[in-house]
Amino acid sequence: MAFLQLKDIGKIYVSDNVVTVGIRNVNLSFERGEFVAITGASGSGKSTLLNVISGMDSYEEGELYIEGNPTSHFIQSDWEEYREKYISFIFQDYNILESFTVLQNVELALMNIINPRERRQRAIELLERVGLGGHLKQKGSQLSGGQKQRCVIARALAKDSPIILADEPTGNLDAQSSKEIIELLREVSKDKLLFVVTHNFDEVENCATRHVRVFDGAIESDHVLIPDTEITDSVPVNETNNNTVTNNLSLGFELGRATFHAQPKLTTLMCFFLLIGTIGVTLISGLLADSFQLFDKYYMFKPMDGRLIISKSQPAEFTEEELIRLKDKYGAESYYMYDAIFDVKTVLVDDIKVELNRFGNTSFNYENVLFNISRENYGKPTFGRYPKSDDEVLLYLPLSYKNYYGHNEINPKADEIRFGGRAYDVVGVKYFIDNTKKPRIVVTDSAYAKLSVTISRNWKNFKNLGDNGFFSGWSNILEMLEQDDGIYNQASLFFKNNRAAKKAVSGIIKDGYIACPSDATYSPDIISVIERIIECGGSLFMWFAIVMFLAFFVNLCTHNSLAKVKTDLVILRSMGIPVRVIKVSLYIRMYLSLIPGIIITAIGATLIFLSPNWNGMFSFLHWYQYLMILIGMLYITTNVTKKQIRSLFSESVKKSLKGGAEA
Ligand code: ADP
Repeated sequence: MAFLQLKDIGKIYVSDNVVTVGIRNVNLSFERGEFVAITGASGSGKSTLLNVISGMDSYEEGELYIEGNPTSHFIQSDWEEYREKYISFIFQDYNILESFTVLQNVELALMNIINPRERRQRAIELLERVGLGGHLKQKGSQLSGGQKQRCVIARALAKDSPIILADEPTGNLDAQSSKEIIELLREVSKDKLLFVVTHNFDEVENCATRHVRVFDGAIESDHVLIPDTEITDSVPVNETNNNTVTNNLSLGFELGRATFHAQPKLTTLMCFFLLIGTIGVTLISGLLADSFQLFDKYYMFKPMDGRLIISKSQPAEFTEEELIRLKDKYGAESYYMYDAIFDVKTVLVDDIKVELNRFGNTSFNYENVLFNISRENYGKPTFGRYPKSDDEVLLYLPLSYKNYYGHNEINPKADEIRFGGRAYDVVGVKYFIDNTKKPRIVVTDSAYAKLSVTISRNWKNFKNLGDNGFFSGWSNILEMLEQDDGIYNQASLFFKNNRAAKKAVSGIIKDGYIACPSDATYSPDIISVIERIIECGGSLFMWFAIVMFLAFFVNLCTHNSLAKVKTDLVILRSMGIPVRVIKVSLYIRMYLSLIPGIIITAIGATLIFLSPNWNGMFSFLHWYQYLMILIGMLYITTNVTKKQIRSLFSESVKKSLKGGAEA
């Protein structure tokens, strides 16, 4: 059984309805250890023969046996495997990865060695063997022709495949280098099957063990030159590593990282475009920030668990004793007299001016300005303190107000604000950087309770009560404060949970009150919820549309840079690096290129939001927006890489090699 056998092999090319014979009726058998020189006129079929042996070209007739196994039934992936296991290719135009160092070029071919240190060691050994020990860190592009060819030979050896195919390996070299390369080839491939295509038989004459002459697609002659004593027995080829998924991933990661570093210009360009993309996505995420409020609980009022609202049918206020009695009788845990504070979640201040002396004509023209201290944690005041009495306030202001309000002082005389016909002293200021929040006036809990009761009293007086006779909602604080003459006939009892609250309802009603668990008073405004969902959904849709457009844009920008990737890719494939590994590496490289853009954008955004001058200019980004930005960018990056891969892998290896060779 021959190691490699070609039986009646024929290959025809059909292009533009013209049929050309590449090779025909080829019957040849080869063993390991042979040095086969192939000669013949141009167009006689030498390259075709090599391409068929390498599995880069299919054949139409006959059968190719490798270690006795037929191959005519092979599909694309079988040929990939075949090339990976058996074939190393050396070309006339070197096919070195120019942007990689000599060492990296060889290391890439040693990817099946998992341990990086071992791999490096082996690469150095091989490079020393081909006489490049002193050029490890040099880039491929800086080598002479002879050195490039040596590097490629080291790479071919690294793969340790049993068949080495060299297509005019000395075609671009001077006589001296040619001689050295041929000798090197002979020396390093004693146990391998080596094919050398050459138009200059003289230079291989001393080394070759066999001479095959091709003429017009057929074998003209086949001579054994030196009685070959060194032919080794056909030893089955060691199984190369089975490329498991993790293996592909880790190799792809290494290759991706190596490419990322090896091509600084290209990498910078990619980073730049992805930075532009990231800034774009960040801007639109800021502009369409509204869409993310779909999930804001401000729009989803949750009734309080265990709260039972009670009310008198007559306009009379509850007394403290009355509430204690009800609490004890029905087993409530606590009560609250002016319970409007729980309902007046936000006190709307429509279009009124809260004039601040310090601001001159500037005024708060915002809704929802009034807050109580314990509503949330406002953090340490930037200067001053929190209010202690009911006529003091703390101003909670966006950072951009710093330019107006100043940095560190309060003038108790001058700094008072007026609203609802009363004056309040400003005793503290807190600047915040989340500019999506509005300026606020923070008052003590008791001031807030009083204000909210006043509001709700008046609400009851001049607005309709809800269907069940309970207060729910808010209105214009000014109107409220100016008409403080109502009677608050509502209070709340608090039970362990809603079930306990509901149990008490019938008893309390028998006692002559109106009673209702808070979840029953709550009726969400369906129309506005639907409006809100449509509005936010529309925004989200816009967001996706713009992200897709940006993907298209980045794709367009990076398209031209593919030529360089393409050349390398073809070489990598001819080196037998599995397509999956190359694909993973392309993704990895793109994801790595994304990192600077993300970091720069994050730092830029932070600096902008921390600056009083800039804070107000862009909508503050919350974690969920950063999440959306990340998702958007991952989408763009993945999409762009996918398109690249599609365009890069659309051609067969051989076709690309020819194209690559021309480039
Ligand atoms: P050599 O390497 O000896 O110069 P080739 O193997 O390249 O010869 O070519 C052998 C024959 O096959 C020639 O007639 C050539 O025109 C033809 N041929 C080679 N490749 C193709 C192809 N891709 N499409 C069509 N004809 C081809």
